[in-house]
Amino acid sequence: MPEAAHLPEVLNRDVIVRISDLRKVYGHNEVLRGVSLDLHKGEVIVIFGRSGSGKSTLLRCVNFLEDPSGGTIEIAGQHLGGGHRTRAKRERIRRVRLFAGMVFQQFNLFPHMTAVENVMAGPLALSRGDRKAQAELTGTSMEKEAVRARAMDLLAEVGLADRAEEHPIRLSGGQQQRVAIARALAMQPEVMLFDEPTSALDPELTGEVLAVMKRLAIERHMPMLVVTHEMGFAREVADRMAFFHEGVILEQGPPAQIFGQSQNPETRQFLEAVL
Ligand code: ADP
Ligand code: MG
Repeated sequence: MPEAAHLPEVLNRDVIVRISDLRKVYGHNEVLRGVSLDLHKGEVIVIFGRSGSGKSTLLRCVNFLEDPSGGTIEIAGQHLGGGHRTRAKRERIRRVRLFAGMVFQQFNLFPHMTAVENVMAGPLALSRGDRKAQAELTGTSMEKEAVRARAMDLLAEVGLADRAEEHPIRLSGGQQQRVAIARALAMQPEVMLFDEPTSALDPELTGEVLAVMKRLAIERHMPMLVVTHEMGFAREVADRMAFFHEGVILEQGPPAQIFGQSQNPETRQFLEAVL
């Protein structure tokens, strides 16, 4: 296989995140009991399942907000298994955090910053390599103007160019979540992780957030792991769906299979409850 020779760590170039036999234990609570999942370039995977089944824990492990208890996560060919947080590993984890953008149920914007400042904060902190960026937002420099211009482009992409100077408190939940998406995109991630991005929103505001996510998938071909119970979104946008149950993926497949011909009683029962 001469072609694969210069990509020794990547089994398949199209696999951008490979989760293998991932385990996570809290005390005596085995929350992830051997989860394996590959996310391919340009692929959208919707993860669904009951509350407490381990979905958030999985995303937090992929982003190394949590240390896995076992198994491996390969990100663009880099192994990031369990074990001690050595300095080299910490550096890899830092790079993984840049690699993956995360959007949570609670938008967690900085309340004292405007929308555009929220989007600028990450890139400024990164370029300065310190935490002074927040204090320095008021100054001017060419670099900062470039960061601002890019932040404005991202706000336009999520449909909020005209709200750039507002503080979060003056924005609706749907608008705040779209700012949060722009903020994650500002770090130029290779992958986006969404943890129930619309479940804190009033129903009339979920559509605008899902529309932004759909555009990311279709126009940018952004690979995404999306935990959601928005089954309309899953049907329309997901390439694959993974049903989580008690810390394992009980079933996975394309939406047509999951919705149309699931043979698994747990999956069917869950779908009947949410649809
Ligand atoms: P889901 O997102 O599917 O609702 P979670 O991943 O949040 O599920 O939680 C799965 C299980 O792990 C739950 O039983 C929860 O109580 C437990 N859990 C999650 N985070 C922690 C933590 N930091 N410490 C202890 N237990 C946790
Ligand atoms: Mg959760």
